[in-house]
Order: sequence, then structure tokens, then C-alpha cells
Amino acid sequence: MKKAELVFIPAPGAGHLVSALQFGKRLLRRDDRISITVLAIKSAAPSSLGSYTEALVASDSRLQLIDVPQAELPPLEFAKSPAKFFILNIENHVANVREALTNYVSSRSNSVPIVGVVLDFFCVSMIDVVNEFSLPSYLFMTSNAGYLSFMFHFPAQDSRTGRPPKDADPDWLIPGIIPPVPTKVLPVSLTDGSYYNYLGVASRFRDFKGIIENTCVELETHAFNSYSKDQTTPPVYPVGPVLDLNDGQARSNLNQEQRDRIMNWLDDQPEESVVFLCFGSMGSFTEEQVREIAQGLEQSGQRFLWSLRLTPPKDSKTLTPIDCSNLEEVMPDGFLERTRGRGLICGWAPQVEVLSHKATGSFVSHCGWNSLLESLWHGVPVVTWPMYAEQQLNAFRMVKELGLGLEMRLDYRRGSGEVVKADEIGRAVASVMENRELRKKVKEMGVVSRKAVEDGGSSSVSLGQFIEDVMKNHFGSD
Ligand code: UDP
Repeated sequence: MKKAELVFIPAPGAGHLVSALQFGKRLLRRDDRISITVLAIKSAAPSSLGSYTEALVASDSRLQLIDVPQAELPPLEFAKSPAKFFILNIENHVANVREALTNYVSSRSNSVPIVGVVLDFFCVSMIDVVNEFSLPSYLFMTSNAGYLSFMFHFPAQDSRTGRPPKDADPDWLIPGIIPPVPTKVLPVSLTDGSYYNYLGVASRFRDFKGIIENTCVELETHAFNSYSKDQTTPPVYPVGPVLDLNDGQARSNLNQEQRDRIMNWLDDQPEESVVFLCFGSMGSFTEEQVREIAQGLEQSGQRFLWSLRLTPPKDSKTLTPIDCSNLEEVMPDGFLERTRGRGLICGWAPQVEVLSHKATGSFVSHCGWNSLLESLWHGVPVVTWPMYAEQQLNAFRMVKELGLGLEMRLDYRRGSGEVVKADEIGRAVASVMENRELRKKVKEMGVVSRKAVEDGGSSSVSLGQFIEDVMKNHFGSD
């Protein structure tokens, strides 16, 4: 039996590292010939991911972790363009990754060959390092197939216009996405000063030997059909949903008491009665917006669980949201009293557990891809409130292409200064709870997505195909 090792280079940050590691775990479970070494670039932001990764690694002897020393951060003024900052930060790590890989390869005593390197899509600058070792590179996409279609299309669009898009530009016709895409819902990175860095990333996508996608073909059939018509794209393997269904709490700073407070409260609520509001690892609001949300929730008359995090002050050097230390200070007068028993406000939430709870009836979400997959998995309909990254495109597709979300906002942007009013929030929250048709459709997609990863399901077959191709690319076809 031929054994094989894969090296993973995930991008730092929860949304990327966690799904790459969960994908790694899935590979290990699937095939005991495989072992994985993760070269871990540390996140610049403080997080509890270290202990999470250590626990995962400790749980499997075929998984090991090598820390890549931290490189110098890009100038902080670039933080206004998060993708640019992120991409430059990864580029600053190229030398350290090269050194870590060189040391690792020369120190290995076992004879199991390294058969390939799996890179996060933000780490495409590492592809040249991987080439120096004459190894094939595979791309791991933490986002969806529609977004991949956009990334394939982006360099061609740029060759026509040569500049970042403007609101008044015609909609983009992207093979792989059914409706024409308004420029306002294209990824924020195209217009926040990151355009050329982002283009640099997109222009390398066709250089990979294969692309792994955290989605399933049933959810995004049109996008997968479009790849098969395009001879220039590498093979794409939909292996999702790859979710962190059990280990989630371990990666947060939530202690047992905080978790129990939330889950015990949910236990006391009627079935499908609670609106859950949660906005990813980086979603945050100003105090003015917080008051509008509070009023909207009150007007809706619905029960709610609200994961609230505040925007850091303007002079802060980071975009990392902060927990609210005094709710009385930021909420409208008397709000906490009036909604006592009907609503609960927390900081970081055990999101997957909340979505899986029978009391949870809908989800106001920033439309990060992991959050959308988690909500579909548990059959909970979302109300769209995108914030950053490619979330506007995700929101647009959920509503206009897939019919799996209720539209509140499609083009909202964190930091734009816009304040969404209470009326609009209240209306959206009330209407999602009444929308039986949407709930039914979302539940059906949940069933389909679970089937996809079961034995014989489409994503399971695709995972098998990925392993087979990786082996064939290294050992040949015997
Ligand atoms: N998450 C959570 N609790 C929170 C906020 C987020 O558990 O209070 C988890 C969520 O379940 C998801 C991930 O963090 O798995 C966020 O990933 P996503 O792709 O949705 O958004 P990102 O944080 O990358 O913008």
C-alpha cells in the first residue's frame, strides 16, 4: 500500500484555518494511507486558535503541525484595505515558509513521499516556493463555487477595463453565476484599495493542479456546469460542506458557564421561535446601529438571541470587534427590561450549537460562507446582512440565484457609515419567521447537503476522486 503525505499551508484566521484543518481531518478519516503536515502561519490578531489547533493535532497521529515564524507586518495604514493587508502579510511570509519547508524536507527520516501541497487561496504567492520543490500545488477554497467563477472571470474582465469597477458600470456577466452581477455586490476588495493585489491572486488560479471547494454540486450546479465547459480550468473537487460541527467551542474563548447560559436559555424557548443574530469573526456595529437593531427586534415582537460585538474606536489600529462591557450604556432606555425573558444578548456565540437547537427559527447573518453552510445544514433560513469580503456576493446569490435567503441588505458594507433603520430590521425579522416556503426550501437543501457528504454522496465521491488524482499525479496510473 503506497503511503503519501500532503503538506497544508492554510491562511491564518478562523474562517480559513478551521475549514482547512477540518478538510484535513476528513482526508485522514477517509484514507489511512495519508498523513498531513500543516505549516501554520500565525495570525497577527490575538485568538484562541492555538489551543484549538493543538487539540486537533493531538487527536490524530497522522496530523502534525509546524509553526512558521511570524514575519514583519505590512504597514498598518494598509489595514484600511483588508485583503491587501492580508495578501501582503502572506507575501511577507514567503521566505519563512521556504525555510520551514526546506528544513522539514531535509530533516524527514521517513520514506513516505510528499505528494503535494494544499494552499489556501490567499496563499497563492507560495505556489512558486512549492514549484522549487517540484511538487504539485492544490488550491483549497474556503468559499463557494460562484465565488470561484468570479475569480476565474476577474482577470478577463480586468483585461477589458484595466481598472476597479464603479457603481455605474454595467452588471458583470460571470459564467457560473446565473443572474448578471451588479458591481455593488462584487467583493469589497475590488473597491477598497486592494484591487491589484486581489487581481494578482485571481490570476494564479489556473496554475493549480486541482481546486478543492467547500460546497456541494447540488447547491451550485450551474457553477460546476460552467467549469466543465471551460477547458482552461483545473479539475474542481466539491467536497463540502466541510464544517466544524463538534470542535467549535474549543476555538472560542467561551467558557462552559457562558455556553450554558446561552444553551439553557434556548432550551426554555418554544420550537423555531428564536431569531439568532450573528455576524462572523469580524462583524461589528457602532452604538448608533446597535440601538436601531435593538428597536427593530423590539418592534418585531420576536424572541431573539443576539451575538453583539462593537466596532473598535476610529483611532484603533485594528478592525477586531470588541465585546460590549456595559449593555445598559449602549441599549435604548428600558430595552433590557422590556425584552427580559424574550431576548438574550451575548458576545461570541457557540454558533453551530445554536443553529442546531430546535428553538432557533431564523438567522440574521453577515453571509460568511461557513455561516451559510452551517445554516443550510441545520435548515435555518437566513436574513442577509453582508459586511465585508465576498459576503455581498454570497448574499446576492443566496437571494437572487439560489432562492435560499430573505433579502434585507445585499450591498451593505461594514465601515460605510450607513445605518440600517429599526423598521427595516424589524420587518425583515418578522417576515422571515412567517415565510414557510423559504423554510421548507432551506430544510430540503439541508437534507441534500448532508447526503452529499455521506458514503456514496456527491462530495464523498469527489473527495475520493481528489485522493485518486493526487496519487496518480505522483505515482503514475499503475
Ligand atoms: N462563529 C461562532 N461564533 C460567533 C461568530 C462566528 O462560532 O459568535 C463561527 C461560525 O460558526 C463560523 C465562523 O465562526 O464557523 C465564521 O466563519 P464565516 O465564514 O461565516 O465568516 P468569517 O468569520 O470568516 O467572516
